[in-house]
Amino acid sequence: MICDICPRKCGALRTEHVGKGFCRAGTLPVVARIAPHFGEEPCISGKNGSGTVFFSGCTMRCRFCQNYEISNEVRGTALTPEQLAKCYKLLEEDGVHNINLVTADHFAPAVAESLRIYKPSVPVVYNCSGYTSPKILNMMKGLVDIYLPDFKYSDDRLAEKLSSAPDYVATALAAIKEMLFQVGEPEFGDDKMMKKGVIIRHLILPMHTKNSIKALEMIKREFGDQALVSLMCQYIPWGEMKNDPKLGRTITKREYDKVKKELFSLGLDGFTQDLSSASDKYIPEWDL
Ligand code: SF4
Repeated sequence: MICDICPRKCGALRTEHVGKGFCRAGTLPVVARIAPHFGEEPCISGKNGSGTVFFSGCTMRCRFCQNYEISNEVRGTALTPEQLAKCYKLLEEDGVHNINLVTADHFAPAVAESLRIYKPSVPVVYNCSGYTSPKILNMMKGLVDIYLPDFKYSDDRLAEKLSSAPDYVATALAAIKEMLFQVGEPEFGDDKMMKKGVIIRHLILPMHTKNSIKALEMIKREFGDQALVSLMCQYIPWGEMKNDPKLGRTITKREYDKVKKELFSLGLDGFTQDLSSASDKYIPEWDL
């Protein structure tokens, strides 16, 4: 196929196993890990874990990505939609609270097909960078119960520098608006697990608290209290970032407190992390 499904609209040739576009992926989903995961927000991970399917390759390829081994390379096992559907069933049999599709945008047609083959009885979580297109979100309509988008940047220049995405802000805001339209406001079960809704994640980067504060202000202005916000402090420098003058360290308590103060003063509801989350022990093994 000639691909234009994500906001990059590369027009690149993709066959089942080979992709010449920015995401470097063919059309058959390549999966790096399938397992219950306990590192998501409490209403997603719960006691039994979130049934995560980590897809390889990415349409953003952020320079600081902590999963760069699978976002910059397409590593793992290629699965057909039928095989993916079987994996959802196996995760369900393990007792997970939901099926959590992590970074699936570039495989959206095959992933949507897998969910049409088997729609899990637990909620389906679509966990993405926020840099997604109406085309992809239309494919997911009616198949996804919970959207977990990032809102990484409030500044397109920073988005261009770190993710080669100079149209990130407007693209992500429009995408989150559509997600809210599809699944509505957050709903929880008696067990406090999320059944539907949107959680917007924002990762604080060292030396970039202005970006974070403005991002929170934009979220409040655009979406009010319709979505929950998850403020993340788990950044650790990887690869080339280890020597970066700004991004070569974890965030400080002072930086975190400054952004948290803004979260609270805006009255945004959601989640914060403990500063000890900034550790590579929370990065999964890519073992599929
Ligand atoms: S999904 Fe990949 S190939 Fe298709 S437009 Fe996006 S980056 Fe390009």
